[in-house]
Amino acid sequence: MSNTTVSVYGYGRFGKFWADILAEDFHVKVFSRSGLQPEQVSSGIEISDEQGIFDCDAIFFCVSIRSLEEVLIKSRSHYKKDTVFFDTCSVKTLPSAWMIEHLPEHSHIIATHPMFGPDSYRQSTRKLPMVMCNIRTHGEVFSEWVRYFTSKSLQVELMPPDKHDRMTAHSQGITHYVGRVLADLQLNPTPIDTHGYQLLLQIIDQTCNDSRQLFLDLQNFNPYADDMLSELNASIERINSALKNNDKNLLAGRN
Ligand code: NAP
Repeated sequence: MSNTTVSVYGYGRFGKFWADILAEDFHVKVFSRSGLQPEQVSSGIEISDEQGIFDCDAIFFCVSIRSLEEVLIKSRSHYKKDTVFFDTCSVKTLPSAWMIEHLPEHSHIIATHPMFGPDSYRQSTRKLPMVMCNIRTHGEVFSEWVRYFTSKSLQVELMPPDKHDRMTAHSQGITHYVGRVLADLQLNPTPIDTHGYQLLLQIIDQTCNDSRQLFLDLQNFNPYADDMLSELNASIERINSALKNNDKNLLAGRN
């Protein structure tokens, strides 16, 4: 696949990481609206301009969730026939709908969410999950890309966008929410930390290294995030009520 050219549009925290992974197997081009200097990109990766980034076999949009629709619309005149279009957004329903609406009618569209970032990728000892949704492809295109990501030792999970958003609101969404709450509390390590507390502090690192915009977008663009927050608030109220009334029947848990 070394003669395949793959583009990465958006060079934030995730775009840089993703470009480096793809560059292990493809010729990779990158574009950032802020401009890039050679010392910012890994060797072998080509810096492209806004038009040239679309001259490729496949393109991964790695821009913030809230900017994807705007980017899709403003890039319309640059799209090439036969390019495979991917998004990498951490929510899937809205980005998939935007891609169907704004990309050329016959183009290949694959929605993805690599369920990891630079921190979790480095630390992982297990196969990391990668969600792929076949939004619209022809022939063998989708299965070829599933095979490629499987060959990267990722655990590829195929599912529709809605199922992804329902699941992640209660997994990734709640983790990032709790991480931001813990950071807001300004918790620090102490000499007598329990193992549980050390794990809590790790959640702050795992979530708050990502951009604040990503956190806001995760909550605001996942159609199930409001339900998750309502359930969380109801749970906090139940537990406060149990404490106030000394009522153990209001508490979940084994004992
Ligand atoms: P980030 O560090 O905030 O980067 C966002 C990127 O989007 C930047 O390159 C930014 O460009 C670009 N951008 C924002 N608005 C734009 C616009 N109007 N036009 C063009 N480019 C624009 O966020 P990130 O963590 O890299 O996340 C990027 C995407 O990857 C998101 O969709 C996120 O859900 C997904 N993702 C992230 C992770 C992760 O671990 N972080 C994992 C999986 C998927 P400037 O730098 O010029 O502002």
